[in-house]
Amino acid sequence: MIEHGLFIDGRWRAGSGGNLIDVVDPATEAVVATVPVAGIGDLEEAVQAASRSFPDWAARPAPERGKMLREAARLIRERRDAIALLLTGEQGKPLREAVAEVDNAADIMEWYAEEGRRAYGRIIPARLPGVSQQVVLEPVGPVAAFSPWNFPVSQAVRKIAAALAAGCTIIIKGPEEAPGAVCEVARCLAQAGLPGGVLNLVFGDPPAISAQLIAAPEIRKISFTGSVAVGKHLAALAGALMKRTTMELGGHAPVIVFDDADAVAAATQLAAFKYRNAGQVCISPTRFFVQSGSYEAFLDAFVRKANSLRVGAGADNAEMGPLATSRRADAVSALVSEAVADGATLHAGGRKLGNAGYFYAPTVLGDVPQTSRIMKEEPFGPVALINRFGDDDEAIRLANATAYGLAGYAFTQSSRRAALAARGVKVGMLSINHFGLGPIETPFGGVGDSGHGREGGSEGLDAYLDTKFVSQLSA
Ligand code: NAD
Repeated sequence: MIEHGLFIDGRWRAGSGGNLIDVVDPATEAVVATVPVAGIGDLEEAVQAASRSFPDWAARPAPERGKMLREAARLIRERRDAIALLLTGEQGKPLREAVAEVDNAADIMEWYAEEGRRAYGRIIPARLPGVSQQVVLEPVGPVAAFSPWNFPVSQAVRKIAAALAAGCTIIIKGPEEAPGAVCEVARCLAQAGLPGGVLNLVFGDPPAISAQLIAAPEIRKISFTGSVAVGKHLAALAGALMKRTTMELGGHAPVIVFDDADAVAAATQLAAFKYRNAGQVCISPTRFFVQSGSYEAFLDAFVRKANSLRVGAGADNAEMGPLATSRRADAVSALVSEAVADGATLHAGGRKLGNAGYFYAPTVLGDVPQTSRIMKEEPFGPVALINRFGDDDEAIRLANATAYGLAGYAFTQSSRRAALAARGVKVGMLSINHFGLGPIETPFGGVGDSGHGREGGSEGLDAYLDTKFVSQLSA
């Protein structure tokens, strides 16, 4: 039984109110750890620490900040196996995926260690003699960030590493459902020499924490990854105080499979990708639109793959683990039952598995009515919705028929159709003929209800920088 702590002003501590939240292994429903609830006073101390340490951290040269991030990345890799075990025990994903996530977190840390040097600014030729015009980039200030439970370590590190590399200090609320891995990241950063107060890690009651932190005058930037409903709420709170936000919200990724693609090969690859992290991935392929002539072959291959997956505890290295929480299993179950009642055909899964743990079978629904709730609301679980389309225009129209706009996929051998998808699908990220989304050097984020701002690429650093224009007439 592990007792996690809050990390405030460089020290580990319990919450001032003494309240604890149980952390449950989703494969067994056993309580494996506790995490403290941060009280008002704890959060106020975190705000003061982030604010006090900001001027010194912002003033340090970027290579010096980068050196600490690189050392933290080295420590994360050194402790990879232990962190991955913790991650699987609290979040449920197969150990193999947990190891990949920890490696990815180290990769993100290293990449931002370098990217921090590239907050370049620029010189703009002036209209008048004797005038110099510069654009300089400055860290925005102390940040309040909220990271989710589906990728408890890599999503947190996307925010932490970008903020620190840019010269910001940060208070991050990690996921209460799976807090252990991000606690280990905080330990690695502290051991790498990060000064106290630059990173503060809290847990507790999400609405109470976000309300207090967003309202604090010292906090200048909000970054959130999670559901659309919560994102809209936090963006409204931040907007009322004119604070900058990055919102990485849900997705309902469309996949267009044109009839010139190899339907069987695409289905087999897509099914493997679909059930990664039990489908709890914001860029998970979910709404499949397959051209009529290829529909049966695609569906058959997809169902075969879904039925062949070994579902079990992540620690036993099953191919698919449980859902992370009981509320997720209930939500998926309700959406699937409703879709079947609406007339969808159940081809695989469609039920909870086992007597303990939040297991849900890899599920395939076919011919799902466009009006069914599951076609509009992200299932965020192991569910594939496979429908057919006739002509190219219909495919684009169906792909765009939700309020989301995060990721999209298309499979075709025609460059004309690839260009049509690239132009027509309204998303922040599109991958054609493979799964190419997510490398940290590329921009990650959405349009529409999927949010705004980007968490990778040079855009990911910009999110933590303000632009200042300086025009000087030489004396
Ligand atoms: P939820 O809406 O209850 O919570 C989503 C996340 O927001 C959680 O991490 C939660 O701790 C946090 N949260 C909730 N209220 C908050 C508040 N007032 N202030 C700050 N944080 C708050 O849903 P859930 O059951 O935890 O997750 C399912 C939904 O969340 C899915 O529909 C999915 O769209 C979304 N989600 C998206 C991502 C992503 O990567 N974009 C990650 C996790 C969850």
